Amino acid sequence: MDNRTPCPICRTPNISYASAGANTSEINCPRCGRYQIQAFAETQLHNSPPAFPPAHLLSGLCRNTWDHLGEKVLITVDLFKSWADLERVAKLPVPRDTDVVTKGEYLLKHLRRRSKTLADRVSFTPHELACGFCSTKNELLFCLRYLADRGWVEECSAANRKGPPRDAITFRLTPAGWRHWPLRPLRPNHAPWCRSCWIAKTSLSGRKGSPPRRRPPDMWRSGLRTVNSSTKLMTS
Ligand SMILES: [Zn+2]
Repeated sequence: MDNRTPCPICRTPNISYASAGANTSEINCPRCGRYQIQAFAETQLHNSPPAFPPAHLLSGLCRNTWDHLGEKVLITVDLFKSWADLERVAKLPVPRDTDVVTKGEYLLKHLRRRSKTLADRVSFTPHELACGFCSTKNELLFCLRYLADRGWVEECSAANRKGPPRDAITFRLTPAGWRHWPLRPLRPNHAPWCRSCWIAKTSLSGRKGSPPRRRPPDMWRSGLRTVNSSTKLMTS
């Protein structure tokens, strides 16, 4: 296993990298989770990043598929063609840029997954951008504050001012957030996630738009390629 390689998707350095058969590698990235990638796709991401999909969507898809389904996405060049091709492979909904409802649901599930007891605080670092398919810190904050406006989460401002890790954002579920969770239609023997229930409750309207453009602090930009309104990839 070679630990010196950067993640082909998000460029996080020093990820775990191992062979997973002919022309396929398995990667364990703190931002993207565990996924597999074919050599041709890896070469293309490295040498000539495709116009689609934006890196934060691939990162979010891999991270959430691993976190919630325990499955590894296989990245191939077929995913780089269109939304239809991406969604054919995805086992979870991939939110459009302005779909705050779906991004908020992913973040709520992450908060619940990381909260072992009531009032647990959950820290969001740049690695957790992928949990909400977010491309910037501002977008992540926007989605978390949408959940706060619904009364499901609250920001832990004291922890945000002094608590490690530095510059992390800390939120926790409110009592309403905890009550909201059992209302999810989870059934016995379900995985923590039920794709069919999720889709039934989630609107995938296909609206198009751009993520916030304000430049986040350096820590939040490291390694993440952002996307502009024409979905052209840039290295930031
Ligand atoms: Zn990554």
